[in-house]
Amino acid sequence: MIKGIHRWCSTFTGGYTYYKDAIVLDMNSFNKILAIDEKKKEVTVEAGATISAIQQAIAKKGLAMKVSQSLLFFSVGGSLSVNGHGRDIRHGSMASTVSKMTVITPTGELKTLEKNNKAQHEQMKTILGGYGLFGVIVEVTFELVDDEVY
Ligand SMILES: Cc1cc2nc3c(=O)[nH]c(=O)nc-3n(C[C@H](O)[C@H](O)[C@H](O)COP(=O)(O)OP(=O)(O)OC[C@H]3O[C@@H](n4cnc5c(N)ncnc54)[C@H](O)[C@@H]3O)c2cc1C
Repeated sequence: MIKGIHRWCSTFTGGYTYYKDAIVLDMNSFNKILAIDEKKKEVTVEAGATISAIQQAIAKKGLAMKVSQSLLFFSVGGSLSVNGHGRDIRHGSMASTVSKMTVITPTGELKTLEKNNKAQHEQMKTILGGYGLFGVIVEVTFELVDDEVY
């Protein structure tokens, strides 16, 4: 049974995901930007990718994340699992900008869930903000917006 998934903020903020004799998954090497779809305005990334790495990759295409945290060194998996938010009041939490994600379920299945499928969206909602308790986030597709200079 997995009782902790971590990058590094857990240690920084107090080690709240650690458990005696538990297995910890280090997602640092799952850090690739897998695809940028300029037409659909979407980016697909691995869950260990940082917000900073995503912003750098998509800015080159004139795109930006709809919702981004104030600090950019957090991971996608860590941000979505705590239901992270940004400062722009138009789009809600980061989780609301996820169109698709691949997860490992508690029974060990690799499953892709899409927001536009009602049943799959319900399952997505337990994992987003679920602190890693309801599945391991492996890959995520985010909806993007045009980059604008304020
Ligand atoms: C200085 C500072 C500024 C902050 N600013 C903001 C802000 O602007 N907005 C905001 O919303 N929050 C903010 N936070 C909180 C921050 O979003 C969380 O601490 C976030 O979880 C950090 O991401 P991480 O990658 O370090 O996650 P970790 O600490 O590694 O993990 C956090 C949780 O997510 C789970 N998890 C990690 N990866 C996965 C995965 N792949 N699949 C499933 N579960 C996973 C872990 O088990 C753990 O429960 C801030 C925190 C700090 C310290």
